[in-house]
Amino acid sequence: MNFEEICKIIFLKNKYLKSKDSQIHVLSHSLHFSSSVFEGIRVYNKKPFFLEEHVDRLFRSCAIMGLNLNLRKIQVIDICNEVVKKNKLNNGYIRPIVFRGAQSMAPDTKNCEVLLSVAAWRWDAFYKNSSLKLTLAKWKKPGPDTSPVAAKSSGSYQILTLAKNEAMKKGFDDVVMLDYKNYVAESSSCNIFWFKDEMVFTPTTKCSLAGITRKIVLNILKNEKINYKVGNFRINELINSEEVFLTGTASEIVNVCQIDKKKFKKKKFTEFLKTRFDLLKI
Ligand code: PMP
Repeated sequence: MNFEEICKIIFLKNKYLKSKDSQIHVLSHSLHFSSSVFEGIRVYNKKPFFLEEHVDRLFRSCAIMGLNLNLRKIQVIDICNEVVKKNKLNNGYIRPIVFRGAQSMAPDTKNCEVLLSVAAWRWDAFYKNSSLKLTLAKWKKPGPDTSPVAAKSSGSYQILTLAKNEAMKKGFDDVVMLDYKNYVAESSSCNIFWFKDEMVFTPTTKCSLAGITRKIVLNILKNEKINYKVGNFRINELINSEEVFLTGTASEIVNVCQIDKKKFKKKKFTEFLKTRFDLLKI
């Protein structure tokens, strides 16, 4: 996959451009110092899914990272919709990113311009496999006093990328990340849930991203009157569960069939949630 070719029209510096013409300077601050925040939004039947929630989170991430974007939320929403239209997307994915320009080559950002780019492309299933094999990562997620974990910032993907690449090298699809206190956190790009004795469990978002799909799933559980617990859980609680699944915008809801040596045979609950989730796309 080469996203330079897959993506046709991109919004950048207040213009809609052909993908190949959407250039930024190699000395952009964000490229060197990871000072960018971004979102991933699914498009179903030409409509961005939970767009307002994603733009809200983008602005929260900007606030945490001190990125003063010279645009209002409604303008960003309009730009996302326009990019979908210009790319003639029925089903796909939108990637807005807010980043700093080339006015500083040191950590300080006083004089840096803050830019928005919005790209969109057709993107079908994120994972090739319908049920995933995970491995425990050796990397740990930092605590909220070590890293701005509440922001969906490019910097937080440094360890997630390392962990994911190491997992794939070992033949797994993805990872289970623990946090700095050794509680279960998330995967490299999804929140994690498990099911045992008629109860659903998921970690808090103290050290992981407050996923929008996670929130949608918790709402489904509430509406269906299914009991769930949000808390701090050790890895053995996850390993000893009956069924495991991940949630994320790109991956939607995806079953887990293995964590290292432990195999999970059940996927009935995941399938049930998927049918409820699919109803929201219409
Ligand atoms: N955790 C991480 C690290 C992620 O990258 C994502 C994807 N944005 C998620 C969780 C799930 O979040 P969402 O459901 O909002 O896509």
